[in-house]
Amino acid sequence: MCMISPLTNWSNLFSVTVLDHDFTGKLYESYVKAKEIGITQPLSLGIFRSDYIVNEDGSKTNEEDSVSIKQVEFNTVSVSFGSLSSKVSQLHTYLADSDTYGPSAEFLKGKTAISKSIDGLADGLAVAYKEYAKNNVLVSGYSKQVVLFIVQPGERNVFDQRHIEYSLYNNYGITSYRVTLDNVRLETKLLETNGVQKLIYTPTNAEVSVVYYRSGYAPTDYPTEEEWDARVYLETSHAIKSPTLLTQLSGAKKIQQILTDKETIRKFLPNSTPQNLEQLLATFVDLYPMDTSPNGLIARKLAQEQPEKFVLKPQREGGGNNVYKENIPGFLKTLPEEQWGAYILMELIKPPEFKNKILRAGEIYFGGVISELGVFGTILWDSSNSKILHNEQVGWLLRSKLQSSNEGGVAAGFGCIDSVYLF
Ligand code: ADP
Ligand code: MG
Repeated sequence: MCMISPLTNWSNLFSVTVLDHDFTGKLYESYVKAKEIGITQPLSLGIFRSDYIVNEDGSKTNEEDSVSIKQVEFNTVSVSFGSLSSKVSQLHTYLADSDTYGPSAEFLKGKTAISKSIDGLADGLAVAYKEYAKNNVLVSGYSKQVVLFIVQPGERNVFDQRHIEYSLYNNYGITSYRVTLDNVRLETKLLETNGVQKLIYTPTNAEVSVVYYRSGYAPTDYPTEEEWDARVYLETSHAIKSPTLLTQLSGAKKIQQILTDKETIRKFLPNSTPQNLEQLLATFVDLYPMDTSPNGLIARKLAQEQPEKFVLKPQREGGGNNVYKENIPGFLKTLPEEQWGAYILMELIKPPEFKNKILRAGEIYFGGVISELGVFGTILWDSSNSKILHNEQVGWLLRSKLQSSNEGGVAAGFGCIDSVYLF
């Protein structure tokens, strides 16, 4: 997988998204505040997932040319389902190999692959943990170094998170704790040591070496200024963050759109061969700004005249935020034109459809099914010298949904976790 590490200062790119004051703007403002206070930790941990859908181009006759993978988006914060993906692929493998599906599913035997993402994601956290331990002697008087999961109050996806916690403990003996953003100030403190602010988890007097966000990606995660304040506070602590505010911002849809531009991407991959660059660019569909630049004006016209070919995306994560096809012109009418620039327009990927069944919340759905592959990666880099210390592909997630649903989110209620069949 090609991972573009956010080694660069993105601030010049971010002037374009300032329109999304309430969230993207607040994330950036929080980064500026943290920078003013002082960001001391040069290491940054990325736990990423790059999502793809197979595209079928009807205009090409040869099968090899007509079918290719296209990127849906690159997620840089709170990527989920790494654990449930491992569990579901184990379940499917067990059911297939134990003949539970019956003779019609004989072809599945030995052909389902198990994603190693539970351990893979935990390995990424452990790499950051060990690097922190190498550079930071445990503060005297404190019990041990630990990982802090930042989670949502009343978290529904807890089972996906717990397996990573158990893997960290079983494979490395690393303890983790869970805190919600509104409780950060109550359950932690900063302790100045050798000019940096060590983060202490007070209930057990432990030093936090890695802060792992499974929250903080949506406006609803910041109901009051208290949560924003906690985010700035954590950013200024010496713990390694996954992700930092800048890394989270680099996963914005706006950045994805900017990074489909050949000249821009060349700047980030100066050593790649022209052939590699073309291969990478071939995984992107057309993405347009919706501002008043020449490309933005083209997009505004396309959105009105051929909306059935596009999805309109705001700077949001977590599903349920996009506007699809025929709904685009009506939606744009509800917004003042000055705000259109806060969106991007993306060409729809056209996946081949398979007939299948989906079991969801006790009900069986039958129909045309399409799938989306997410590839997990972990990366640790040093922003003070742009050195990459670790960069691994760590498994995958396959989600399937009925063709009739535009969105594929499992937690958002539109799809299910699936397994890869290799043939
Ligand atoms: P979010 O960050 O909210 O998850 P995404 O950009 O991943 O938003 O979009 C949500 C879902 O919508 C995707 O998982 C996919 O199923 C569908 N989708 C998004 N973009 C496209 C596209 N260009 N073509 C086809 N489907 C898309
Ligand atoms: Mg997504």
